[in-house]
Amino acid sequence: MTKHLKLYIDGEWLDSVNPDRQEVINPANQEVIAQAPQATKEETEKAIRIARSTFESGIWSEQTPGERAEVLYQIANKIEAHAEELTELEVLNNGKTIREAEADVADALHTFRYYAGLLQNQTDETFEAEKDLQTMIVKEPMGVAGLIVPWNFPILMSVWKIAPALAAGNSIILKPAEITPMTAVKLYELFEQTDLPKGVAQLVLGTGAVAGQTLSESKDVDIVSFTGSTKVGQQIMQAAAGNLKKVSLELGGKSPNIVFNDADIDLAVDYGLFGIFMGAGQVCTSGSRLLIQEDIYETFVEKFIEKAKAIRVGPGNDKASEMGAIVSNKHMDSIMEYIQIGKEEGAHLVLGGKRIEKDGLEKGFFIEPTVFTNVTSDMRIVREEIFGPVIVIQTFKDEEEAIHVANDTDYGLAGAVFSTDQAKAVRVIKKVRAGITWVNNYHLSSVQSPWGGYKTSGIGRSLGKYGLDEYQETKQINISMNPERSDWFDGEK
Ligand code: NAP
Ligand code: MG
Repeated sequence: MTKHLKLYIDGEWLDSVNPDRQEVINPANQEVIAQAPQATKEETEKAIRIARSTFESGIWSEQTPGERAEVLYQIANKIEAHAEELTELEVLNNGKTIREAEADVADALHTFRYYAGLLQNQTDETFEAEKDLQTMIVKEPMGVAGLIVPWNFPILMSVWKIAPALAAGNSIILKPAEITPMTAVKLYELFEQTDLPKGVAQLVLGTGAVAGQTLSESKDVDIVSFTGSTKVGQQIMQAAAGNLKKVSLELGGKSPNIVFNDADIDLAVDYGLFGIFMGAGQVCTSGSRLLIQEDIYETFVEKFIEKAKAIRVGPGNDKASEMGAIVSNKHMDSIMEYIQIGKEEGAHLVLGGKRIEKDGLEKGFFIEPTVFTNVTSDMRIVREEIFGPVIVIQTFKDEEEAIHVANDTDYGLAGAVFSTDQAKAVRVIKKVRAGITWVNNYHLSSVQSPWGGYKTSGIGRSLGKYGLDEYQETKQINISMNPERSDWFDGEK
């Protein structure tokens, strides 16, 4: 039986008046898991109104940091208690592997605990600005936060926004991607079992064009925080201009992974594979451009292909699968189109390139790990984000060229360097224009560290104290300790 999902507004589960529904599908076999509502503009506006009124009531925004932290700990504990169910739902709906989903759920509950702790460690600044003028700098919630998330990390991207937004005292409206609402719904069911006051957190299931656009435009929303494509990020920024709401944008990337001839090649191959094939390449920080120094190119490519060939692609819920499904038919088509473009552009397809249509996988959306060599910087497969298990491998002569090629992109999200010369590795990574970078590893990062991109990869930073800052206003309060008249307009003098 398919589940019939609802909107969650003001502490109530509601049906949408819109008869149109989104079928939620398991991408591993195309079975229908659920029917999701497509909220109307009016329903989205209602969610915003409720968030505004609970914010203004102070029921959450005026709780002390200690009180709010307590609720965040309760949420973390609920996630922990339901970790297995959340993991299964994520695998079912997104198509990722159990191992990947387990990591996401663990990261999600850790994020709530981290912000609960951080909140209690955030203290206001105060100083004597001039004699008897005491200044306080205080942090306050922004107000109403619209949170719009993509399908690649449904629970994790939701939590990376919800945890700091709630910690700061905001009221929120979450809009998950239409095709992956399952774990967000579960998360809200768990919120109901905590002391989070009714009306603080709303869940709007609907399309980007209606629900997402309404959140971005609304004059009653103070910040819109978005993760997704650069194109939609630009639309959101335009829509947000109406009331000059704050925008926090985590967008796409085409991240370089640079391997020098003095690197530990096996290590570089290992992380090269992890960098692109984890999440079937549907990761914003994927290392989708490998830059290999000329003299080790052949050895590297040979080892890389041998290992990539051995990756077991299959349904996420099969423990043996190392790489899962592509999230949707539409997205699979878009990746296949890029593979075709690569061939037409004259790149050498040296591995994969096909949809997998045997052993039961024909029912789902699976693509072989795909490797292109002999690419040039002007090719579309080198410039555009494919967001799938497709890597392009380029060569470089020396340090200077490596940096040039790495930065020859409109994006600036992530990047990595492999070398046993630490000084060189750090020198080069500092020249890579990107916000999330690695030396001798890929994808390793923590909740303490700011997450975000340079150039067209976004604005602002998630996670760490920077992530809490995104959802706060900063106010100065100047207090006369011993008030005296200014005598500015006194006439005499
Ligand atoms: P997307 O179109 O950018 O969608 C992300 C979220 O924004 C979804 O919830 C979407 O709603 C919503 N949205 C769409 N149009 C909107 C609008 N006009 N106003 C407000 N919200 C809007 O991403 P996608 O369709 O999921 O994937 C397309 C491409 O985005 C991928 O191929 C990839 O390049 C990139 N992407 C990047 C990341 C990342 O982490 N940086 C993550 C996912 C995707 P719907 O439910 O209608 O889609
Ligand atoms: Mg979309």
